[in-house]
Amino acid sequence: MSEKLLVVGETKDGTLRNVSFEAIGAAKKINENAEIIGVVCGDDDLESQALELIYYGADRVVTVKHDNLKTYTSEGFGQAILAVINDESPAGIVMGHTSIGKDLSPKLASKLNTGLVSDVTEIEITENHLAYIRPIYSGKAFEKKIITGNFPFITIRPNNIPSLERDTARTGNIRELDIEVTDIRTIVTDVIRKATEGVDLSEAKIVVAGGRGVKSAEGFKPLYELADALGGAVGASRGACDADYCDYSLQIGQTGKVVTPDLYIAVGISGAIQHLAGMSNSKVIVAINKDPEANIFNIADYGIVGDLFEIIPLLIEEINKM
Ligand code: FAD
Repeated sequence: MSEKLLVVGETKDGTLRNVSFEAIGAAKKINENAEIIGVVCGDDDLESQALELIYYGADRVVTVKHDNLKTYTSEGFGQAILAVINDESPAGIVMGHTSIGKDLSPKLASKLNTGLVSDVTEIEITENHLAYIRPIYSGKAFEKKIITGNFPFITIRPNNIPSLERDTARTGNIRELDIEVTDIRTIVTDVIRKATEGVDLSEAKIVVAGGRGVKSAEGFKPLYELADALGGAVGASRGACDADYCDYSLQIGQTGKVVTPDLYIAVGISGAIQHLAGMSNSKVIVAINKDPEANIFNIADYGIVGDLFEIIPLLIEEINKM
């Protein structure tokens, strides 16, 4: 019988996050012959999410449906996923390095008495080893970890490990595991959304981020326009959040979100080390700053020296012509 690898599907507003599909891609890289078992939890019908996991490469899916799984709590989801682990006895687990993944994975690892390699950005396979590469020192260096035990438990950073192509011809078994989810000591009574409509910042392929140079909340409007034109999301430096130009949920950096988009446009951001920690692994970085000595230009692939209030409208105009 082939080895089983468990992939935790993470949903937001009932829809699976892309990192769930990337986790299947990662599991396939760990062992292309493994049986990939997806798991999704919730209080509603989970069939459509289960099917999506199959379309992206899961061989079969276990769902756990319970009233106490309406919103995420580490106790509820921890119990549910642990029940699936006990039922399936997988040889390893992959999940996203998201807020939920960061909360849940150490808890599960300690319950399973195993190790955890978190925030993996690359899986390296050579003749002799399977290594997990992850950034350290706020992205200034990378370390390569080799798991000497036989239970890979990893969390992967969104947007780094490719998912497989979605294929609706794929089929697989979907099974509901009937368990009681009890003794939840924290109950989420309400979820109040902050200013994060549209594309999810941590999974966006294009990010337009504004800094203190944007000067006001009003000044962020053209950045939203540019992000919309590009199909991207808006982010910010802590400088901009501290100045109340935007919500802290947009903060990128050491104490904010870590993003790895294909394109990062830094607008009026100086490039402090704490900001770079959250975006320096972006594939292409464009910086717009009126100060030619700004540190952000040291990591930018393309730099525009000038006034953002003149440059952003020109960019929007050109992009809208395309
Ligand atoms: P500034 O440094 O003030 O830069 C503004 C830039 O805008 C300047 O380069 C200026 O030339 C340019 N500019 C001004 N006007 C214009 C214009 N009209 N056109 C074009 N360019 C213009 N920061 C983060 O971002 N994320 C974090 O997670 C984070 N965590 C931190 C944790 C700790 C423990 C500490 C101590 C700091 C942290 N910081 C973080 C803060 C960080 O050190 C910087 O203070 C912050 O990133 C600066 O934000 P900024 O680049 O927007 O502002």
